Parts: sequence; C-alpha cells; structure tokens
Amino acid sequence: MIRKFFKRIFTRNPPAANTTSVLHTVSRKEHGITRQQISPAALKVTVALQQGGFSAFVVGGAIRDLLLGLEPKDFDVATNATPEQVRGLFRRSRIIGRRFRLVHVTYGTEIVEVSTFRANCAADGDTDMAAQNHADQYGRLLQDNIFGSQEEDVMRRDFTINALFYDPATEEILDYLNGYEDIKAKRLRIIGEPIQRYREDPVRMLRAVRLAAKLHIQLDDSTAAPIGDLAPLLQNVPAARLFDEMLKLLMSGHSLSCIVDLRMRGLHHGLLPMLDVLLEQPLGERFITLALKNTDERVQQDKPVSPGFLFAALLWHEVLAAWNKRQAEGVKPIPALHMAMVEILALQRQQLAIPRRLDSIIYDIWTLQPHFVARAGRRPFHLLEHPRFRAAYDFLWLRCESGEVDMEVGQWWKVFQHTDASTREAMLLKETTPKRRKRSKRRRKPAESADHKKSDVTNLAPPTET
Ligand code: ATP
Ligand code: MG
Repeated sequence: MIRKFFKRIFTRNPPAANTTSVLHTVSRKEHGITRQQISPAALKVTVALQQGGFSAFVVGGAIRDLLLGLEPKDFDVATNATPEQVRGLFRRSRIIGRRFRLVHVTYGTEIVEVSTFRANCAADGDTDMAAQNHADQYGRLLQDNIFGSQEEDVMRRDFTINALFYDPATEEILDYLNGYEDIKAKRLRIIGEPIQRYREDPVRMLRAVRLAAKLHIQLDDSTAAPIGDLAPLLQNVPAARLFDEMLKLLMSGHSLSCIVDLRMRGLHHGLLPMLDVLLEQPLGERFITLALKNTDERVQQDKPVSPGFLFAALLWHEVLAAWNKRQAEGVKPIPALHMAMVEILALQRQQLAIPRRLDSIIYDIWTLQPHFVARAGRRPFHLLEHPRFRAAYDFLWLRCESGEVDMEVGQWWKVFQHTDASTREAMLLKETTPKRRKRSKRRRKPAESADHKKSDVTNLAPPTET
C-alpha cells in the first residue's frame, strides 16, 4: 500500500525541472521549423534588432504552435533592448501598456509585439524588488516592468511550452525548462512554484484552461492541483483584464470545452456570476452549449464572430429570469424586459467589464426577441428591415433549438425572410387582439420612409445607461 503510494507520487510527473533552468539547444534538424514559417514582419524585426547589436528571438505562442503543427495567430519577439531602444529602431512603432510596457512594430498590415526581457522579482523571493513591482495583499503583481536577462525572462513566463526562444539567425531553439520535451509529451506545466505563480497572476489559471483546450494537451498534476483552491483569486483581478482573457477564451474556437473545464475546476464562479446557476438548468445548459458550439464552428471556419452576440447569449437566461420576476411584480412586459436587461448587464459588469461599445448589439438582440412572436400586420416587415435582424434571428434560432421557443416560430421566419412578397403576405397571421385605437380620419403623410418604419422596432431600445 505504502509502496503503491510512493510509486504514484514519484511516477506521476517528470522531475520538477521547471524551477531551475538549464539551457538545451534544439537544432533545426531536430525541431523542423523553417525560417519560412516565421512571419516576414517578425523576421525583419529580429534581424533589425540583431543588426542593432541586441539579442532578439521569436518567442512564446508562435513557436509552441509551430511545433504542434498549428498555424500561429501572431508572432511575438523578445529582446534585451529596452522599449525606448526598440522604438528608436523602427519608424512605425509605438510603446503600449502600463503594467507591462512593450512595443508594437508595424510592417504592412502585421503588428509584431516586442517585449524586453523581464525579471520575475517575486519569484526570487526578493521582497525589495517585489515591492518595486507593487504586489497587492494577495501576491498579485501590479506591475511587471523590471528588466532582466534572457534567463530571467524565461522564468517569468507562464508555462514551459511558452518559454521557447527561436533564433532565426541560427535557426535554433533555446530551451531552458524542458519545454520542448513537454510539447512532445503534450503536457502543460507552469513555470516555478504553482501556487505562487497563480497568486502573482490568477489569470494564468484561465490561460491554463484555454491553452489545454486549444492545443489538446493535458495540465500536469502539479499545475492543475492548486486551481480549485485558488479560484477565488480571480475576483481580485481587474474586470477589464478578466474580460480580455474571457474573450480570448470564448473566441478560441474551443469555447465549449473551455467552459466545461472551467466549470469542472470551479473557475466559473464569479466570472460570469450567473453561469454556475444557469448550467444547472437543462434549458439554460442546452442554450449555452448550442451558442458556444455554434461560435466554435464559426471560429474554426474563419467566419466572423460577434462578441456582443456571445455575451447576449451567455446572459440571456438570466435576463429571462429577471424579466419574469419583474412581470410577476406587475410591470408590463416591455418595460420589464428593459429593466431586466439593464439590471443583468450592470450585475455582470461588477466582475467582467463587458465594454460599453457592445451594449447596443446586446440590447438590440434582446429587445427584438419578443417581436418575433408578433407575426401579423406590418410588424414582421419592420423587423426584417432592422439592421440587427440577422443577429436577432440567429439568436431566435438558438432559442428554438434549445427548446425555449416553439420551432415553428423559427421555421416561419426562416421562410419569411427569403420568400417573395406574395408568399409573405399569405404567411401573415391574423391579428388576435383587436386594434386599440381607431385610425384617425386624417390621412397619414404619403409613403412612409424606411427610417420611419424602422423606428417602430427601434423605439423599443432600452433607456441608455448613464
Ligand atoms: P495565444 O497568442 O495563442 O493566445 P500566447 O502564449 O502567445 O498564446 P500571449 O498572450 O500572446 O499568449 O502571450 C505571449 C507570451 O507571453 C506567452 O507565450 C507567455 O510566454 C507570456 N505570457 C503571456 N501571459 C502571461 C502571464 N499571464 N504570465 C506569464 N507569462 C505570460
Ligand atoms: Mg501570442
């Protein structure tokens, strides 16, 4: 029994080579990456930096993705030049970021992110340096701008597979932490002491989940173990940063498996405060699952995905619950819907800073939903002309597929939007409620403008928040 226990402990993971660095050089013959696989802009940037007397490498996600046979999303460069020195070398460049200052260099339409080697002061237990880096009471680094050597830069990165440096001049990969071996073994290992590294930056827990799903690799045990206990630290991360990371996760093309994994690890609490409750309800779970599956398919087919649509979907069942509650309190349906929408978005924003620019699409998608039911008179024609009809209709379809709305409604709209004028007229339902007021005898202005027609629907836009 005891022998079994020790065997498990000692065979579970490879030795923790991720706390001390030993340089291994992986030759071009071994790793197989060719210079042609590096983007022309990243190549130009590294060459120019090297010619300027600095060291420069392509680093991070791009090298990791190439080794895994994936197409990199972007190319990052790491150098010993300071942001100002980088800025001095490239005409089309600018320094960005506060917590983490780096330089964006533009070549044609491509932007290369150039970061200066940094030291991870907190990891050294160097309290003076940590103080300079302004860690908060939970150990979260508030700034990360202390420059360091290449070896130090390796240690401050998140996972071993993200800490490989490719030198286009020699075509070699510099590997200090056995990241190359981890890639081959499809293993995600955090660098350094896991609890401390998650405390420094709790977002690394979300990155772990996203990268594992995107790369089809496993978190190693010591990387996974502390996540459940440390999940509450996410509540201490600024809402804007959390939004950026959640958006990356949702747009990764693997959002469904990410959300399932977040939930399994207890990381979803507080991210989307409603998600935990929602996923317990069969209807809500079906709706979210369909929405995420749909998003993943679109991302994988390189089709555009609207973050507004996604957040409208993620929050819909909460809005529904709040809407019903308001109506039960005696508020009329449309004002009740507006109140519910404003309330839920405000609640959500306490944790995850959904940008205000997404408000209009989210609100439009939600406010148009009740209009799909009214299929008599001129109303369906007005709805068709709404600029957000397509998004709202796609949303309706998800509601139908999840069983929330009768599929007959979705089918009706599917036909109605594409058919000819006479079929449309024939499809209209009979008015069920008598018209409230008689038409005035005075004649209306001739020929209503399209704008006027649209306003019948957009009138329902919610009050803008101040
Ligand atoms: P992708 O671009 O596919 O999202 P990536 O790993 O390139 O993945 P980036 O956000 O572009 O992600 O980060 C570039 C590199 O910076 C990473 O590969 C990693 O080495 C380092 N890095 C990013 N975020 C962190 C973090 N929170 N803590 C430590 N290092 C990080
Ligand atoms: Mg990247």
